[in-house]
Amino acid sequence: MSANIAASVCTMCKRKKSFFFRPYSGERLCKKCFSESIEAKVRASIAKYRMFNFHDKIAVAVSGGKDSISLLHILAKMERLHPKASLVAVTVDEGIEGYRDEALAIAAANCRKLRIDHHMVSFKELYNFTLDEIVARAQRKGERELTSCAYCGVLRRRALNITARDVGADKIATAHTLDDEVQTILLNIFRGDVLRLAREKPVTDEVHPRFVRRVKPFCEIPERESALYAYIKKIKFQDAPCPYASEALRNDLRAMLNRMEENHAGTKFTVFKSIERIRPALDEIAKKAPFTECIECGEPASSDLCRACELLRQNS
Ligand code: SF4
Ligand code: ZN
Repeated sequence: MSANIAASVCTMCKRKKSFFFRPYSGERLCKKCFSESIEAKVRASIAKYRMFNFHDKIAVAVSGGKDSISLLHILAKMERLHPKASLVAVTVDEGIEGYRDEALAIAAANCRKLRIDHHMVSFKELYNFTLDEIVARAQRKGERELTSCAYCGVLRRRALNITARDVGADKIATAHTLDDEVQTILLNIFRGDVLRLAREKPVTDEVHPRFVRRVKPFCEIPERESALYAYIKKIKFQDAPCPYASEALRNDLRAMLNRMEENHAGTKFTVFKSIERIRPALDEIAKKAPFTECIECGEPASSDLCRACELLRQNS
């Protein structure tokens, strides 16, 4: 057999024609073996980081984008094998005109198809303002320090935590991919935010009874593979990018990491694994900064006022 023919055959089943080359492992995979490998990797990450217990009620954070919809489909498939566990989906409507409506409809359609209870919560009902209103106000006040994503991230996390708690969920599963994780690691290093570096991990600690622990089953799945999974499985997701998606530092890091990965396959995994190797030291740092309660809203906070109340106060 010539080298060319050998190279086009799936390295896993050794029968079908390959359509995807995984540079960091050298595998060439057919569509079926590729999607099975993604599901196996997700199962392996869940087991390695002990993300779930058998009886957990899991709230999946579903934005309507490719990663969260793929995660919902994979967890729904796994849940059928674990009758004591249950899934619900939670979607946060930040209030981004012309963008969120389509995502909400797609999230709802996928939940109906998979017969998963779907809970929606909006910034407007929780905080009295949409993200559009918050951003417009910040611009009027000349606030330049914070990006739209900074407001959105803090307030969405809070919204997810409140909703997951309200529905009695034991865990919140988010679809952060390997790319998201590595960008966040470098962002925190570039900003010198060691505490956040220590707190962000595949399974968050049980830091406060009002905090629902967050798990990231896609933390070892590269973003392009999560997108390819959705494409192969013909999963319907929202393709359009968020109009605010412009966090400058994160975009620079994304471009830099993609360039590195192209020239040095496996770079993203190396960064991720390096942080996991020093995890015990990072856990010690996190332990020294326990959570208290926000004097304004009573939610868990790192200081007297939680970050969400701080942002909302600045914006009022
Ligand atoms: Fe929110 Fe930024 Fe994501 Fe848009 S890109 S949904 S503003 S975090
Ligand atoms: Zn607060």
